[in-house]
Parts: sequence; C-alpha cells; structure tokens
Amino acid sequence: MDRYTIVARKDELSLSLKEALKEKLDSHLIWDTLHPQLVISIGGDGTMLESVHTYLREGASFVGLHTGTLGFFTDYKREEVDQLVSDILKKEYRFENRNLLDVNVYYNQEKRHYYALNEVRFDHGFMAQVMDVYINGELLETFRGNGVCVSTPSGSTAYNKSLGGAIIYPGQPLMQLTEVAGIGHNAYRSLGSSLILTDKQVICLKGKDLKNISVDHLSYSFDHVDKIEISLSSKVVPFIEYRQLSFIQRIRRAFIYE
Ligand code: NAP
Repeated sequence: MDRYTIVARKDELSLSLKEALKEKLDSHLIWDTLHPQLVISIGGDGTMLESVHTYLREGASFVGLHTGTLGFFTDYKREEVDQLVSDILKKEYRFENRNLLDVNVYYNQEKRHYYALNEVRFDHGFMAQVMDVYINGELLETFRGNGVCVSTPSGSTAYNKSLGGAIIYPGQPLMQLTEVAGIGHNAYRSLGSSLILTDKQVICLKGKDLKNISVDHLSYSFDHVDKIEISLSSKVVPFIEYRQLSFIQRIRRAFIYE
C-alpha cells in the first residue's frame, strides 16, 4: 500500500495533525488523492464515514485517528501519531472487514443504489409515515410512526443505539431493523422491538410517504418511490488493524466511563 491520502475534519487540531502526519509519511509513501490504497482519516467516526463514502469505490483500505475520545472506527488517539507512522511503515497488519448495506431505491422507473456503513434511515420528525415492511416478500407489518432505521453491526452503536436498538458485536453478517417512535395503540400496531436479520433476508419498504432517505451522513429526496430494498452487501469495507483493540473496552469508554 504505497499510495495514500489523508481525510481530516475541518478543525484546527485535525488539520495540524494531517500536516504533521503527511510530513512524516511523504518520504516513504506516495501522496495520491485520486486513487489511494490507504486512507488515513483524522477526526471522529463521522470523518471516517466521509472518508469511506469518498474512497470506497476506489478499493481503498482505511485507518482512523481520533482527535476526541477513541471512537468505533478509529484505532489511534491524537498523541499516537508516531505510533501510527511506525505501524504503517512496518506494514504488519490484518484486515477487519466491516459489513455494508446495499440500499436500492426504485422510483419513477429508475433505480438508485447506495452503500451504507452505519445505517439507512427513513425518518420524519413532523408527520407520521405509513409504510409496509416486507421481509423476503412476506408482509411483517404496516408501520406508522416517525420511521425506521436499518443498521449494520458498525452502525449499531450510532443512531440505532439512540433508538434503543441492540449493540451487535462487529464482524457478524447481520442487519438490524429498528423503529423510530412507532405508534402503538389498538388501531395501529407494529413490532415495537428491533429485529435482527441475516444476509439471507431482504427488507422491502413500500408506501407513498417514503420520500426522504438518509444514508450515514448523507440525505436524499425522491418523488414517486415504488419500493426500497435493503440487504447486507457482498462488498465490505477493509479497515486496517495494525493492533487489536477490545470492542468491549470501546463500548465501556464510549458509553459508560473512560
Ligand atoms: P455526526 O456529527 O458525524 O455524528 C453524530 C455522532 O455520531 C458523533 O458523535 C459521531 O462520533 C457518532 N458516530 C458516528 N458513527 C458512529 C458509530 N458507528 N458508532 C458510534 N458513534 C458514531 O453526524 P451526521 O453527519 O449527521 O451523521 C453521521 C452519523 O451520526 C449517522 O450515521 C448516525 O448514525 C449518527 N447520528 C446519530 C444520532 C443520534 O444518536 N441521535 C443523530 C444523528 C446522527 P464522532 O464524534 O466520533 O464523529
């Protein structure tokens, strides 16, 4: 992996770390912002989402340095720049492949495809949405409420967790369907709990209210959506692991205590 680039959050600290890292790596690796093999993301987990969406289709691999607390996509802290440089130059690593979702939106006789690393959300804060939820062609429910979120194991610690969904240990080919404020009374009833599915299932959503879609940090609007299909993708995101960090420790540090 000789061609590399750095994606940094637009704050002073992240930008200065980018310069420091670049200075240390430029005599060993080739700077390439178009077709990098290695992408170093500096900032937070949100910056990693941006890095992945920019360079996934280039076949790049990813490593992250967090300028806040240690995140879920970032293995190095701000004071560990030298450690990161030495690990990159040692070239001893393994890959941790993160699952992605394939999201196919069928609208107006057209189809649009997205990859989601964290989740795809159909979420409306102002009015209740009605949508039919099918799993492998079978009707599960007619959902009424703010919307639904379908997340990967990586995304299970993000928006999904705020919705009360479960955290899924990384590396499992699973996806999780979680409701956003489902209405639950005797006229309208939905499952009310998260549903964990495998790579053998396809979730299909139908309904005239399906217009606004968020994929990770990106949002899109559509007219006349016929259906939206979501499944685990055969494509994965290769994260480079120069050292192994405990997932339990990450959860504890992020949500319980440092
Ligand atoms: P953002 O500011 O980039 O991210 C919002 C927060 O979510 C940040 O604190 C970010 O961590 C954290 N985050 C992102 N991915 C995560 C992951 N896999 N596990 C744990 N925390 C994670 O916001 P954005 O650009 O609107 O959306 C990016 C992502 O943020 C979305 O995919 C969504 O999952 C998440 N989000 C969560 C909520 C919520 O929990 N209520 C609301 C909006 C968005 P860093 O500080 O390290 O970047």
